Amino acid sequence: MNIPFNKPHFTGREAFHLSEAAIKGHLAGNGHYTRLCQDFFEKRYGFRKTLLTTSCTDALELSALVLDIQSGDEVIMPSYTFVSTANAFELRGAKIVFADSNPLNPNIDASQIENLITPRTRAIVVMHYGGIACEMDTIMSLSEKYGIPVVEDAAQCIDAFYRDIPLGSIGKLGTFSFHETKNITSGEGGLLTINDPALFEKAETIHDKGTNRAAFARGDVLKYEWVSRGSSFMPNELTAAFLYGQLEHIDAIQQNRTEIWNAYYSRLKETAAAFPVGLPHVPDYATHSSHLFYITTPSQEERSRLLQHLESRGVHAVFHYLSLHSSPYFAGKHDGRQLPNADRYTSTLIRLPLFFGLTEEQIDYIAQSIELFYRK
Ligand SMILES: *Cc1c(COP(=O)(O)O)cnc(C)c1O
Repeated sequence: MNIPFNKPHFTGREAFHLSEAAIKGHLAGNGHYTRLCQDFFEKRYGFRKTLLTTSCTDALELSALVLDIQSGDEVIMPSYTFVSTANAFELRGAKIVFADSNPLNPNIDASQIENLITPRTRAIVVMHYGGIACEMDTIMSLSEKYGIPVVEDAAQCIDAFYRDIPLGSIGKLGTFSFHETKNITSGEGGLLTINDPALFEKAETIHDKGTNRAAFARGDVLKYEWVSRGSSFMPNELTAAFLYGQLEHIDAIQQNRTEIWNAYYSRLKETAAAFPVGLPHVPDYATHSSHLFYITTPSQEERSRLLQHLESRGVHAVFHYLSLHSSPYFAGKHDGRQLPNADRYTSTLIRLPLFFGLTEEQIDYIAQSIELFYRK
């Protein structure tokens, strides 16, 4: 067998919407399909306001601008995350204060955040790993207590919930990704959710090159002008049209991925009971997105051997993030605190293939391959 790690899924609706977009003749951003997508997210998940962006990276950079992050401001975030989470704030000159993961899953350890807060802390950025929610009650009460805004890096969180509340709607701002590797894709693409009405206009302005063109289009102002800092964060209509073709099938996509995730979990439960393999920890409060399925090994050495073993059987499994606090770029800037859980996920976590259409037979083969590694 040869099982790829990921395979983008096409719903079959994308080409129709792409040609509709071309026929409509409006190809730049903020047209018919952009509005359809934004309406879809606002209606389905109750996000107060959304803006499509060219990527989640861009949505994160937009967040840092909307929050007016300045040189010397401190921003708390997990070390175990994608580089874009940190880069967005690093680009504004912020001092990144990395927090450890919690012992049970790769998400930020909410119990350690308060110790990291100082009078200079300007944002707490959380990342819900695999679309499994962080402990948002604890995090939001710290946010209220200290008046520090929360940004949710919800890149992996389409259709994921914390106590029935959609992820990306809890912090002041949330960011989603439609990269090829995500559940719903437009190749590259992203979304910013703005959950605080006080930030609607500001986000809209920065998103559109620092102009009030959106207000002008609504007839709120007579001309559009340069009113603030800004840049071009909007995708073109072709990206939005493609994305809409995916959103039309979101329920089928999510159902299929959930079945795959659950099949992995039940298939590997016995292996995890008999051998030192760790399975994902999903707290009771979380309904996740089935974005990824991971296992953990007791050591990095064992992970290497298991990955090799899987590769030799045609199973393309991969490891994931490398702790940002000890990255070549950041190690010299880090304050020296040990972040053992982030390091443990860095060296022991394996992601198994997960894509729309992965068959039961393939899941069985992958699970058997893992068992074989431990039983021999
Ligand atoms: C995928 C991902 C990103 C980046 O998304 P892009 O759309 O590729 O910019 C950021 N953060 C996390 C947690 C991700 O998984």
